[in-house]
Amino acid sequence: MGIKQFFTDKFSKTAIREVTDGLVIFSVCMLTYVLLTDLGGIEVLQRVVGTPLEAPSFLHFCGVALVVFSVRRIGDQRRERAKRVAAELDAKEASSRDPLTQLPNRRQFQGDVGTALKTSKSKMSILLLGLDQFRKLNEVYGHLGCDEALAQIGARIREHASPGDIFARIGDDEFALCLAGADAETARDVACALIDVVKKPVQIGIEQHSIGASVGIAQAGRGQTTVDELLRGAHVALSRARNTRESFCFFDPKMDAHVRERSLLEKDFRAAIGGYDIRPYYQPIIDLKTKRIVGFESLARWHHTISGMIMPDTFIPLAEELGLMDELSGQLFGDACRDAATWPEYISLSFNFSPSQLGDVNFADEVLSILADTGLPAYRLEAEITESALVADLEATRHAIQTLRNAGVRIVIDDFGTGYSSLYHLYELRFDKLKIDKRFIQELGVSPDSDIFMKAIIGLCKGLELTVTAEGIETEAQAEASLAHGAHQAQGFLFGKAMPANEVTEMLANPRPAQMVA
Ligand code: C2E
Ligand code: CA
Ligand code: CA
Repeated sequence: MGIKQFFTDKFSKTAIREVTDGLVIFSVCMLTYVLLTDLGGIEVLQRVVGTPLEAPSFLHFCGVALVVFSVRRIGDQRRERAKRVAAELDAKEASSRDPLTQLPNRRQFQGDVGTALKTSKSKMSILLLGLDQFRKLNEVYGHLGCDEALAQIGARIREHASPGDIFARIGDDEFALCLAGADAETARDVACALIDVVKKPVQIGIEQHSIGASVGIAQAGRGQTTVDELLRGAHVALSRARNTRESFCFFDPKMDAHVRERSLLEKDFRAAIGGYDIRPYYQPIIDLKTKRIVGFESLARWHHTISGMIMPDTFIPLAEELGLMDELSGQLFGDACRDAATWPEYISLSFNFSPSQLGDVNFADEVLSILADTGLPAYRLEAEITESALVADLEATRHAIQTLRNAGVRIVIDDFGTGYSSLYHLYELRFDKLKIDKRFIQELGVSPDSDIFMKAIIGLCKGLELTVTAEGIETEAQAEASLAHGAHQAQGFLFGKAMPANEVTEMLANPRPAQMVA
């Protein structure tokens, strides 16, 4: 280690500078003193100025050295103070900014809105903008891609805000805007304009991607509430907007009761998954010509100790939202395969897989591994998927379908006619079976359109060699009409509702005439 390094490590830069400065000033003074007194410098000076000069004493030089040293120290201190103030300002600025978008952060927003709430005489509106499907975006483009997108959206929000608006990035995928003096109509217009601005495609690497957004709005008059309350209201309204697929929603105090109910349901639901309280029930599928049972569709049922039976329309969306769909479906599918493995081998099991599962690259392998573990042969499984899976991620769905099909699983397109898939998907993806949604079946003989739709779809399925199942058959007339139109199989309350596994075993042993076992 060099001597300079030794001193740098031991002392601060300022201390070293002070010592070297002192040494240099003292040495210069001493040299001048020796030059003037001992080496005859004073005589030379007297000759130059032309008047007799008194020889300076050693103390004079010490005084001069001290003055120079002090002046330099004062200068140093001033510079130090200026640097410290600048550093403090930088630190304060950094702690109030979001480093990615350079927008103010939550802390700054809360401070600014808090001040505005106290001073503003008019109504304030908080608009909380949440990006849609941000988790998905993260999966597709990774953190770097998402950062690129967020920076672009942040810049747009900054450009869009009017002077005096308080705005910030307050969460991973959340931006907030506070409008002073905004009535409901203005707040709504700004929310719609913000959504449009955000929706314009962002550039991620070489790709362009359009990100949707929803807005929750909470409003308050002067001193009516706190920033935290306003933000909480805006969050509740944002969740409502997302759940109802509205682009924006205003907070209403009635929503609080709903939020409390939902959070209870959420708690119970997590416990139900942990306790395996959600079980598969089975609805028979009948061959329309022979009226024999050819399979069962697994439909999830939750036995809640207080609320009784809870239906999938309530908890499947909840599982999706909480990111628990894979876990729930894994439990149900395992149970269903174990039950189905005990049925006669010509009875198939139909199982519903949700669009979010099909987007996972490991999905098909996991299905095949559960089949192997439970001993249910792949040819006895019918995987039901809805049109929305094709629309959500066609490539991932295509991959999953191919892997499952190659292993012998039959693929069923469910609720046909209710989604947005095109006929091209039907041709391109090669399904084995198509289920016509109950809303068309229940209109048979009532609305001529329904009969026309049935005829057209069944004609198409004949060409594509697809088996057709008519869902939601409740009457003999619907069963006859479906058969007459050419449907092969049927499901509905006429033949049996979804039932627990023990009743399936009983039904298979003693079928009613309309439900003969194949
Ligand atoms: P889906 O797959 O279309 O299932 C058919 C729905 O129609 C079932 O409702 C069934 O009980 C009902 N249904 C059957 N026959 C009739 C009838 O004759 N009349 C009427 N009105 N309804 C009938 P459920 O059990 O409430 O299930 C609703 C939806 O929840 C299912 O629609 C399916 O999309 C989803 N689901 C159920 N279990 C699961 C599951 O384990 N995983 C996933 N991802 N989704 C599930
Ligand atoms: Ca189904
Ligand atoms: Ca269906």
